[in-house]
Amino acid sequence: MKVEKTEVVIIGAGPSGSVAAGLLRKQGRQVLILEREQFPRFSIGESLLPQSMEYIEEAGMLQDVVEAGFQYKNGASFVRGTKYTEFDFREKFTQGWGTTYQVQRAHFDHVLALAAERKGATLRFRHTVESVDVSGATPELTVRSPEGEQYRVQARFLLDASGFGRVLPRLLSLETPSNFPVRGALFTHVEDRVAPGTFDRNKIRITTHPKHVHVWYWTIPFSNGRCSLGVVAKREYLEQFQGTETERLKAIVAEDPELTKLLKDAVWDTPARAITGYAANVKSLWGNGFALLGNAGEFLDPVFSSGVTIAVKSASLAARCIARSFAGETVDWERDYAVPLKSGVDTFRTFVESWYEGGFQDVIFHPNSSPEIRKMISSILAGYAWDKENPFVADSKRRLGVLEKLCAP
Ligand SMILES: Cc1cc2nc3c(=O)[nH]c(=O)nc-3n(C[C@H](O)[C@H](O)[C@H](O)COP(=O)(O)OP(=O)(O)OC[C@H]3O[C@@H](n4cnc5c(N)ncnc54)[C@H](O)[C@@H]3O)c2cc1C
Repeated sequence: MKVEKTEVVIIGAGPSGSVAAGLLRKQGRQVLILEREQFPRFSIGESLLPQSMEYIEEAGMLQDVVEAGFQYKNGASFVRGTKYTEFDFREKFTQGWGTTYQVQRAHFDHVLALAAERKGATLRFRHTVESVDVSGATPELTVRSPEGEQYRVQARFLLDASGFGRVLPRLLSLETPSNFPVRGALFTHVEDRVAPGTFDRNKIRITTHPKHVHVWYWTIPFSNGRCSLGVVAKREYLEQFQGTETERLKAIVAEDPELTKLLKDAVWDTPARAITGYAANVKSLWGNGFALLGNAGEFLDPVFSSGVTIAVKSASLAARCIARSFAGETVDWERDYAVPLKSGVDTFRTFVESWYEGGFQDVIFHPNSSPEIRKMISSILAGYAWDKENPFVADSKRRLGVLEKLCAP
């Protein structure tokens, strides 16, 4: 079997893989990206957070993203019955980007992957990683080409950015169950035909179900008059609805009068899709010569649109560790990669748990919230979950607990 050598091999050309490739190319490293699909390909996760812009910029890919013409985003709005509240991410506690984009991921991921290629990474579509050996001095992969031939790749470092493909967690038995109950989503793209002025297209809109606290809907407007629409709920709730995915999604949308009103003229021209049981975790985010990026590591929940931000943050942390390693330093991957990455993930976890229990929903919809506290919450919703200066990051459980009590109905 043919054997190739490279410095860093990356499995997957989603946001974590491409941003890692861009950062490593800046260091002058030799990078090979192996991607199973042919891009552009559909992917879920369309509303970015401003914090992600910092890492896209760091990877030298900002211009590519800005010029792609995506929908500008400056915040998040929340709707519960006839109540409406919104957060403008430019009004936040943490310094840094306050705006970002709502993106069709087929296009966005392609833009990032091509940017990585232009920076000198070798990018191969339709090359599937089938097995891995990390027992030796350097990791080795077995890959299948589009022609069906197998070849091996040896690299000094292996980054698993395979997302829900979860290549290393599966092959190295690193999977460990998530603590979250099994939730699922039904989603589609529609031509929304929402009259101008009735919908702030610069914000993701999260609608809570009128009766069930664990059910919520997203509407993510795009720049072309279309909108991503989805619902998230516990598996048992979704299973009550029969028919095609589109019929089920329509029936669940019909349960919320405000959303129904908003989408009354929408053209449902794209079959809906379903995904269930996406929350995942691993025993370790790194090992002998490898690290897990983005969704190949832990995935919590879509409610705060944190997935891509965590993915590109992981790319940035891993690229720094790899730079130090190539410079001859001994890197403690637990201390310098896993612990810092998880600290932000844990901040999001606190807010996600509180959201589904209803406490954070009461905080968001509380009519008399202090402007200072709203700025701190706005920072977290904008993705700044690693900023320990923010009391709701440094001491999130306790702080949020106190706030929940104050805002309880
Ligand atoms: C319902 C839902 C809604 C979401 N909404 C949002 C949102 O609004 N905003 C947000 O930021 N995040 C959202 N997310 C999360 C987001 O989808 C992910 O966090 C993000 O895509 C992770 O990026 P990644 O680079 O880690 O992996 P991915 O984007 O999944 O990329 C992984 C790549 O690896 C490739 N691959 C897999 N296996 C192999 C293999 N064997 N060989 C080679 N290549 C392989 C895949 O083809 C894929 O292209 C949502 C998730 C869900 C489930």
